[in-house]
Parts: sequence; structure tokens; C-alpha cells
Amino acid sequence: MARVDLDGNAIKPMTICMIGAGGFIGSHLCEKLMSDTSHTVLAVDVYNDKIKHLLEPESLPWSGRIQFHRLDIKNDSRLEGLIKCSDLTINLAAICTPADYNTRPLDTIYSNFIDALPVVKYCLENNKRLIHFSTCEVYGKTIGSFLPKDSPLCQDPAYYILKEDASPCIFGSVEKQRWSYACAKQLIERLIYAEGAENGLEFTIVRPFNWIGPRMDFIPGIDGPSEGVPRVLACFSNNLLRREPLKLVDGGESQRTFIYIKDAIEAVLLMIENPARASGHIFNVGNPNNEVTVRQLVEMMTKVYSKVSGEDAIQTPTVDVSSKEFYGEGYDDSDKRIPDMTIINKQLGWNPKTSLWDLLESTLTYQHRTYAEAIKQAIAKPSAN
Ligand code: NAD
Ligand code: UDP
Repeated sequence: MARVDLDGNAIKPMTICMIGAGGFIGSHLCEKLMSDTSHTVLAVDVYNDKIKHLLEPESLPWSGRIQFHRLDIKNDSRLEGLIKCSDLTINLAAICTPADYNTRPLDTIYSNFIDALPVVKYCLENNKRLIHFSTCEVYGKTIGSFLPKDSPLCQDPAYYILKEDASPCIFGSVEKQRWSYACAKQLIERLIYAEGAENGLEFTIVRPFNWIGPRMDFIPGIDGPSEGVPRVLACFSNNLLRREPLKLVDGGESQRTFIYIKDAIEAVLLMIENPARASGHIFNVGNPNNEVTVRQLVEMMTKVYSKVSGEDAIQTPTVDVSSKEFYGEGYDDSDKRIPDMTIINKQLGWNPKTSLWDLLESTLTYQHRTYAEAIKQAIAKPSAN
């Protein structure tokens, strides 16, 4: 039976140019598009390890509907041709790990702003739709974080719920280079929005709120550099796998809402297949019901990991570190991130489903199955140096 959109119209197969398709979100989006739809994906990235299972062997049922194009969008003239022959472009390419924002601010700004410019230009010039991935970090800090801790206003959602069309974007000073990422993302959002308003670009902007799940980032020393610092899920997974204490940055008081990647991908698919409802909008995509402090996340991950691995937790499960020690000079943090869901609910009728416990259980089961043996071997055979 033909698949229909939210308004009951048959969905026509389309060709999607997906830039950054080899990353965490891209790999899940490619999987979903291959298994549930008949769209074709031109997958653009410099790496393809996370989508290898979709590209080979040729006997896979979707063979012919996904093609990998290894190119760096910084300097490759093939990009325009790929956008030209697609109906829709999705741009996921970015440097997006906090450890880079204050230590590689130029690469961060170039990657998130300058390198995205040609993508916007080619979409505009060729009259193509663009779904651009921004971030919840464009909100920065909450208004509530500037109130005295004992102020009753701290409990008022108006001071902390993040709303696409109402909340201000509040960043730290320029010396706090952590905000290089948020600022570059904000500027590309404003540019895309202006191209829509002045020149008719058909766009959708996505603001992910801590999407997590299998294949996120890397485990240092196993499938990424030993000294690399990935995002928090992979940092804590690495510590649990190695039976080391989890590092709590600045006391672990910051709060986050985590959403299961598979729930979030459902929202992106709705945007892809319902252009009339998604175009011209900025969407928060997160799970407001899954809020924890980083300290609570540590406790929950420790319990879940014990359950899925069958190993007891270690005696000292956490260690405190300062952000300067962990991330270096210029780090700063978002205090709290709860997405308002009104717009995505109204336009696409979407809601997240998976609880934090359940999403950690499936994700840590994956981490254990994928990495436990490799870590054991790496610990048994330390490298020569
Ligand atoms: P990721 O790092 O796993 O994926 C990004 C991919 O882009 C990588 O595979 C990388 O190789 C590719 N890429 C980067 N620069 C490129 C270039 N010049 N040419 C070709 N490919 C390039 O990150 P992700 O978690 O999948 O995030 C995807 C997007 O979503 C990013 O724009 C990020 O800022 C945004 N985002 C994600 C989250 C989240 O929770 N995962 C949160 C906020 C924002
Ligand atoms: N964090 C931590 N220990 C780690 C890694 C991260 O305490 O080993 C904290 C980090 O300071 C931040 C939160 O966890 O407050 C979320 O970090 P993530 O890397 O996911 O990035 P963010 O949500 O800030 O974009």
C-alpha cells in the first residue's frame, strides 16, 4: 500500500542529498530511509564506517537506493551537482563536540558557518529544499540562570523552557570560546531564515536536544583517538567499559534532556515527507520528560550498565574534575535545556516516546556488545609506548 503524508496524500519517492550522512544522526537517518521508505539517498561524507552495513553487500533489498560520495564539502566542486540532481538537501556536516569548541574555535566556526554557506547558496540557486541541522545550543543559557538561586521565579517555566519563536539566545563572553559553536550555528540559522524571507528559500531548521543512542561518537583508543574527548554518552560509556570512575565536570549540576535517536529520527522523517507543514519552521526536537542533572545521569548509567553487563559497579563510581582540567581554558556550560514542544506538535503531531531508562538500556547493551571485548584486549595488551 502506498505510504501517505499527514494530509493523506501519497508520498512520491524523492532523491535526498544527505551531507554528513556518515555521522551518528546521518547513519540512523539513512537506515530509516532505506528500511521504511522508497527514497534514494546520495550520502556525502568524508567517512562511511557507520553506514558500511547499508552500502554492502549489493544484495541488500535497498541496493541502488543509497550511494556514498566521499567528499569534503570545504573544497569539492562535485557538491553542487549532487544538490542539483536531488529534490531535498539535508545538511548534518559539522564539528559538534564540546571539547573542540574552545580548543579549535576556528575549525568550529568554519565548519558550522563558512562551510555551510555554499550548501545554502546551491539550494537557493537551484530552487531546492534544505533541511539544516542547527542545535539547542543556540539558546545558550536560560534566563533563570541569572536569577538568585533562591528566587521563586526559578520555578517559573517562563524562565527556563526554550521556545523557538520566543526565547532569547544568551551566550557567555567572547573569551569563553565554548560559544563559538552556538554563535556560528545561530548565524547560519539567521542567514537561512533571511534567505527564506528575502529570496524564497524553502527551508526547515532542526534544533536537536541531546539525541543519543548507538554509534554516537567513538570510544577513545578503540575506534577513535586515545586522547579524544567525545560527547558525554561516549565519555561515560568508555569509563564504564574500562571500569574507571566517571568524570563529573564542575560537580555535574548542569541539566540536560536526552532523547532516543530512534524517536528523533521519526520527527525528521515527518519533516522530510511533509514539506508543506515543515517548511519555514524551526523545530526543537527533544524529550522534555527525560530531564536529569549530569550527576543523576551518572547514577542511572552506572545502574543500567551493571544490569546489561552483569558486572557490579566499581567502589568509587565518580571523580570530580574542573571544566578547566577536563576541557581547557574557555569552557562554559548551558545550565538547563528543556524544549518547548508546541510547534512540532502542532505542525507534525510528533511526540517522543522512549524513557531515559529504556533508551540507556538499549544504548548501553549496544555499547557493551560492541566494545567490551575490544576494551578487554586493549587493557591486556597495552601499546608499546
Ligand atoms: P557527527 O559528528 O556524528 O556527524 C557529522 C558528520 O559530518 C561526520 O560524519 C563528519 O565526518 C561529517 N562532516 C563534517 N565536516 C564535513 C565536511 N567538511 N565534509 C563532509 N562531511 C563532513 O554528529 P551528529 O551527532 O550526527 O550531528 C549531526 C548534526 O546535528 C550536526 O550539525 C550537529 O551540530 C547537530 N546536532 C546534533 C546533536 C546531537 O544530539 N547529536 C545535538 C545538537 C546538534
Ligand atoms: N560532562 C561530564 N563528564 C564527561 C563529559 C561531559 O560531566 O565526561 C558534562 C558536560 O560538562 C556537560 C554535559 O556533561 O555539562 C553534557 O555534555 P555533552 O558532551 O553531551 O555536550 P552538551 O550537552 O554540553 O552539548
